[in-house]
Amino acid sequence: MPEMTGVAEVDANAVLAEIASAGELEPSGPKFTLELNQDQQDIREWVHGFAEGVVRPAAAEWDEREETPWPVIQEAAGIGLYSFEALGQFWADETGLTLPIANEELFWGDAGIGMAIMGTSLAVAAIFGQGTPEQMGEWIPQCFGTPDDVKLGAFCASEPDAGSDVSAIRTTAKYDEAKDEWVLNGQKAWATNGGIANVHVVIATVDRELGSRGHAAFVIPPGTKGCEQGAKVKKHGLRASHTADVHLDDCRVPGACLLGGKEKLDERLARVREGKRSKSQAAMQTFEASRPTVGAQALGIARAAYEYALEYAKERRQFGKAIVENQSIAFDLANMKLEIDAARLLVWRAAWMGRSGQSFENAEGSMSKLKAGEVAVWATERAIQILGGNGYTREYPVERMHRDAKIYTIFEGTSEIQRLVISRAISGVQVK
Ligand SMILES: Cc1cc2nc3c(=O)[nH]c(=O)nc-3n(C[C@H](O)[C@H](O)[C@H](O)COP(=O)(O)OP(=O)(O)OC[C@H]3O[C@@H](n4cnc5c(N)ncnc54)[C@H](O)[C@@H]3O)c2cc1C
Repeated sequence: MPEMTGVAEVDANAVLAEIASAGELEPSGPKFTLELNQDQQDIREWVHGFAEGVVRPAAAEWDEREETPWPVIQEAAGIGLYSFEALGQFWADETGLTLPIANEELFWGDAGIGMAIMGTSLAVAAIFGQGTPEQMGEWIPQCFGTPDDVKLGAFCASEPDAGSDVSAIRTTAKYDEAKDEWVLNGQKAWATNGGIANVHVVIATVDRELGSRGHAAFVIPPGTKGCEQGAKVKKHGLRASHTADVHLDDCRVPGACLLGGKEKLDERLARVREGKRSKSQAAMQTFEASRPTVGAQALGIARAAYEYALEYAKERRQFGKAIVENQSIAFDLANMKLEIDAARLLVWRAAWMGRSGQSFENAEGSMSKLKAGEVAVWATERAIQILGGNGYTREYPVERMHRDAKIYTIFEGTSEIQRLVISRAISGVQVK
């Protein structure tokens, strides 16, 4: 396994400072090129090596076990891949391409294990996006733990009655001024790493009348009373990634656990109550910026299925010739390659736009996630078809890839919600 030079020695504070300067880039951003620089190529090879050598051989086992693959996460931590420093280094690339490249390679290995490794980054992104520098310094490292004592992070927004409609969140956060504590009550659904994470980031409402503008994000420190795992979800795919309900029952956290701090929250709520412009546009921009990373994960699955099907079609013989010699099979493979490459261009464009501060006038982030998710579902289904009966069995990996791919049209905004966002952006009409 090639060691990535630099990752292990990187100073966490230096990485934080570098990431924090992201917003200070000139709007025009760095010069765009599709030619990967040496760092990007090195990181791609490094993650690919881990995906090929460690993740892929373990994929079928952990899919069957439906358990968090702790030993694999520990191995990822051991080489520095599962670490704040590595994530920070991916993030810090001014072109924006390293994060999607690393995600594509890891999920090429296996999406269930990939999500077990990358699920923490949802909580990290929330702390990074909304926390103060002190909160980032305190909580982000605790999401990862150390290579000897690996930890996870969980991001809990969805609820049984608030999925696509985030404004319907019912979990409440009430401030106890006497103790300078927040008291959280409610039920979170579908949380990746929910209940097994060291650090949970919970979205709760502090003023229901304000809808999503009355929401705030809270860190629930490790071992906090009143934060418990509910039912673990048995899933169609992504089965090596733990998904569960999280119950918050008079869960008290220190005032300092409100991401961004109380003063900032009070100012924001006052502005909203006065009917002034809220920062919802800024929140939308943040979402748009994170979507290409999710798209890249879907791309990794699609590419893995395409490559497997291509090799199979060259080997498998029927009617005295390789099945790839049939135009219908070869055209399917050509279309798979075409769609995957097209999706990657959308992903890279959106990643570059997000990192270089371009405004997503046409919801380019949503476009990238939508396209990559749908390509992954379609390409993995075609891969099963090309493998015939073998494709339908658990002896071959493409049926697992198909099951894994399906989540990419559902989570992080369903395909319908992405189309809603795009259609509103291009038309200026509040399409329903
Ligand atoms: C494996 C997995 C992991 C997850 N991880 C997390 C996590 O870590 N943290 C977290 O907070 N959440 C997580 N989620 C939740 C996920 O984000 C939601 O499932 C998703 O947002 C969709 O919400 P829903 O399931 O309630 O579907 P619903 O919102 O009920 O949607 C059902 C259907 O109705 C459609 N629909 C809804 N509204 C509209 C509309 N206005 N126009 C057109 N169609 C519409 C949807 O597109 C969908 O097809 C996870 C889910 C899964 C399955």
